[in-house]
Amino acid sequence: MIYLNGAFMPLEQAFVPVLDRGFIFGDGVYEVIPVYSRHPFRLAEHLRRLQCSLAAIRLDDPHSGEAWGELIGRLIEANPWQDQYIYLQVTRGAAERNHAFPEGVRPTVFMMSSPLTAPPESQREQGIAAITAMDNRWLRCDIKSISLLPNVLLRQAAVDAGAAETLLLREGFLTEGAASNIFVVRDGTLLAPPKNHLMLPGITYDVVLELAEANEMPCQVREISEFEVRSAQELWLTSSTKEVLAITTLDGRPVGDGKPGPAYRRMYAWYQDYKSTVMRAAGKR
Ligand code: PMP
Repeated sequence: MIYLNGAFMPLEQAFVPVLDRGFIFGDGVYEVIPVYSRHPFRLAEHLRRLQCSLAAIRLDDPHSGEAWGELIGRLIEANPWQDQYIYLQVTRGAAERNHAFPEGVRPTVFMMSSPLTAPPESQREQGIAAITAMDNRWLRCDIKSISLLPNVLLRQAAVDAGAAETLLLREGFLTEGAASNIFVVRDGTLLAPPKNHLMLPGITYDVVLELAEANEMPCQVREISEFEVRSAQELWLTSSTKEVLAITTLDGRPVGDGKPGPAYRRMYAWYQDYKSTVMRAAGKR
């Protein structure tokens, strides 16, 4: 079951007009929210980021936080899986093709759910391969825009190279992955690029930094040079659907000893503990 403009329906029955500005211009924003045991994870944070994305593209938020929460809750209940992820997108609606904003047009609101499966054990145990590429995206990567052509091409470059993700370097510094945030471990310190217009402020990124602090793992949020990436002991990728994964080869060379490192193993355990605690607390409400 999906949600489209006020109604719940089977996916096969959902259609949008071909003049929708999402289709014509990529004029819209989106969110991906993981759901564990039917409880959305970090919902308030995802909705806050959605508000920021909408404000940045000058599109009024079609719903209050409360209304979003209720619609998402109904979509979760309308689908069979315990663990799901909600994809939602808001576009500037359907109008005659013209770059300038149309007047009096209602935004298109679409939400769907898919089963959420944890990354396979092999990736957990062996880590994943990544490549690097020049970050050739625009300068508002903080907006969760549906215009993802650069990200699509950058991710496909990884797939073509037999890898799972592409790490992006802009003017000699790490920004993020094609569809993830990236962390670096050097000399026992966790390094994270600072949140700014060059990367998406990841919800999982925040969780990882909070867990590092709570567990007194030394941590620095600062610009990370290409040299520091290439000579890291550990590299991690984070995203809502992949949680935390170790990157164990970069451009075909091993990262550290080529296995998920000790800091990664600790963070993975903290992350799973944290998730269980949050879900238990939500279940009791
Ligand atoms: N950066 C980019 C470009 C992304 O597409 C994503 C989400 N797939 C992330 C970072 C991670 O964000 P989050 O932890 O909120 O999923």
